[in-house]
Amino acid sequence: MNEPTDFSARLESALAGTHALIDLDAYAGNVRAMRALIGDDVELMAVVKANAYGHGLVPCARTALEAGADWIVVARIEEGLLLRQYGIDGRILVIGPPNRALLGTAITAGFAVATGTAACLHDISQKARELNRRAHVHLKLETGLHRYGIEREKALALAQAILDDPLLTLEGVYTHCAGADEIADEFVQTQRERFESTLAEFQAAGIEVPYAHFANSAAALRGIIPPVPGSQAAVRTGYALYGLSPSAEVPVPSSFRPVLTLKSRIARIFTLPVGEGVSYGRTYRAERPTRCATLPLGYGDGISRHLSNTGWALVNGVRCPIAGRVAMDLTVIEVEHAPNAAEGDEVTLISDGSDGAMTVDEVAALCGTIGYETVTALSARLPRVYLRGGEPVAASDLRGLVEDHAHDDET
Ligand SMILES: *Cc1c(COP(=O)(O)O)cnc(C)c1O
Repeated sequence: MNEPTDFSARLESALAGTHALIDLDAYAGNVRAMRALIGDDVELMAVVKANAYGHGLVPCARTALEAGADWIVVARIEEGLLLRQYGIDGRILVIGPPNRALLGTAITAGFAVATGTAACLHDISQKARELNRRAHVHLKLETGLHRYGIEREKALALAQAILDDPLLTLEGVYTHCAGADEIADEFVQTQRERFESTLAEFQAAGIEVPYAHFANSAAALRGIIPPVPGSQAAVRTGYALYGLSPSAEVPVPSSFRPVLTLKSRIARIFTLPVGEGVSYGRTYRAERPTRCATLPLGYGDGISRHLSNTGWALVNGVRCPIAGRVAMDLTVIEVEHAPNAAEGDEVTLISDGSDGAMTVDEVAALCGTIGYETVTALSARLPRVYLRGGEPVAASDLRGLVEDHAHDDET
């Protein structure tokens, strides 16, 4: 428990410089919108891997559970451990191959772990025996993504091995889509058939599978949620819950809202003399005396160097182009068309786009990547301020997360 003064100091330092605003009401609204979309018969697994896609692991996981998510999904055991450290005791599933050196901690923490190989299952079994603790296992099926998963012809034997082990529980079977965000690619239907036929084999062999989960955000938004007889269906959705669209073809409905806004503050205003250049390599040159502003923001915060000379920041409602190369800690913008810009002014780099700032999709397009990478790249150094009802309720930076416990009594 931290003193409220810790919180206000942390908040003040975040707001005084570059920071991300994380609208937890928007996030909660997206969780509820996803719930409405999938219906009450399907369980909702909120994926918060990679620091909640850059949005802040602990506040997002907490909010997801409050908003009605049934599970929290992480990729690494350490991510789950951090959640437990902050008192989050909901159901946690670790997808992604579990780190064998951390299996014991994962079992002790009560995580469900995924396995897609016999060797990994062997490790889980051995650890469970060593600790004399029950381990919950979700079997990952290979249906066509070809990264991690047990081949279908070997799946039945592996499931049987789990059932035969007195300390293991087969809690779920799942698979992952290779291209549900592309409507023209019908491979998702092939994967669905492979998934369903394998589970039918399980059923014929008398193997009970409590949970069968197939869909990611794109599949869930398209309603591709195969019901499996005898199993509880669930979706593992991440990206859409941050209010972002898996692809242009599979957008989130208008009931979803982007969660993240990225702000900075002008550290210096200066006039670049004719012929002089800005930043490394001087790739931007002044053809006339040009007013510029320096922002304490760079690729060290997760703002891609690919935005050099292409991206923009919004200053008092005016789009101001990035001038020269984005560096590790500093980025310069041209403020010729924002004559009132002054040192200390707040600027917006990323928003939902309604104000004219870059959207996550626009940043991604300028960087030749997808929005998933753009938000996930936001680094641990970038301070984040978490809002509820428009009020800051938590703040995080390199030093960790501080939650404002003054709000606890109100809820
Ligand atoms: C990341 C991931 C998801 C979530 O995908 P989104 O597109 O973010 O919804 C689901 N399942 C697995 C196995 C994943 O790795």
